[in-house]
Amino acid sequence: MSRFLSKKLSSLEAYTPGEQPRDKKYIKLNTNEFPYPPAPDVISAVNADEMRALRLYPDPTGAELKARLAEFYGVGSENVFISNGSDDILNFSFMAFCDGGAAYADITYGFYPVFAELYGINSKIIPLKDDLSLDVDEFCRTDSTCVIANPNAPTGLAISLADVERIVSANENRVVVVDEAYVDFGGESAVALTKKYKNLLVCQTYSKSRGMAGARLGFAIGDAALIADLELIKYSTNPYNLDRLTLAAGVAALTDDSRRYYAEKQAELMATRDSATAALTALGAEVIPSLANFIFVKIPSVSGAELNAELRRRGILVRHFKTERIKDYNRISIGTPEEMATLVCEIEKIIGERK
Ligand SMILES: *Cc1c(COP(=O)(O)O)cnc(C)c1O
Repeated sequence: MSRFLSKKLSSLEAYTPGEQPRDKKYIKLNTNEFPYPPAPDVISAVNADEMRALRLYPDPTGAELKARLAEFYGVGSENVFISNGSDDILNFSFMAFCDGGAAYADITYGFYPVFAELYGINSKIIPLKDDLSLDVDEFCRTDSTCVIANPNAPTGLAISLADVERIVSANENRVVVVDEAYVDFGGESAVALTKKYKNLLVCQTYSKSRGMAGARLGFAIGDAALIADLELIKYSTNPYNLDRLTLAAGVAALTDDSRRYYAEKQAELMATRDSATAALTALGAEVIPSLANFIFVKIPSVSGAELNAELRRRGILVRHFKTERIKDYNRISIGTPEEMATLVCEIEKIIGERK
């Protein structure tokens, strides 16, 4: 840290992204990436013509992509905000909507406390219940802006649409941000509720369910006035925060063929998740029933840190969090059926070696 850094930032603890190792080839189940490539239409959309057009700035309004997303989700273009990953949108939301503090769970996406810290926002931490489910009643009682990952990470547990609605309607004077990064793996989206409630902002991303984590594309759906607030921040920081290639890829991911492709691959992933859950449970692991593209796994005879290190030694990366309450668990992204078969086989060996 230099002596020039703003005092406001000197104690900031940054978010730690999952590892992207380059030393050797791992089975990479640590950052919840989609195990399949983007749809064929996406791959052909990012072509030489698009490259040549890179000399021109992209459309700062992203009009075409917004129109396609609006059509896909049954809302108006004015209800859609697009940005450089949903992290960007969460960042803007903390900046924009949290004067009265932010309420989020103790165990949830690790970026929320970082944003809160960055903007000096008071955090009201609402502990998950003993079974690691969200304490919906407490979220109804708080008077802070609510930020809820649904399904939650790293647990994979979701709350029902009725519970989301209960939180949103409990206090119309604060914004409720529902982070639906994992909703395409069996969860219920709250997008339809955005027509009824002016205080609901739903964030989604192309990173987890469309195989485009590397493109950095997220979007939010909500009342036009909320979207305008986000646009205000975007145009006050970086109007061109989505590049041409990403915009083209985002549009191509919504063609009829792409929709079919993604629906099929997402269904495949859910089937892999459910069979991996069954296989690990049969080995004596505790697996939280997940509606996301990862599972949260605890093995009674092996500590969380040990399992993580053992798997790494065997060429498999999974994610371990040191937080006391979840230190016995590892979050394991769902890969291809072959990758998951290898994982199950290695975990079986690790358990066997303890006996
Ligand atoms: C991965 C993740 C994000 C970030 O997604 P990007 O669009 O890649 O920035 C946001 N929220 C949750 C809960 C996530 O797991």
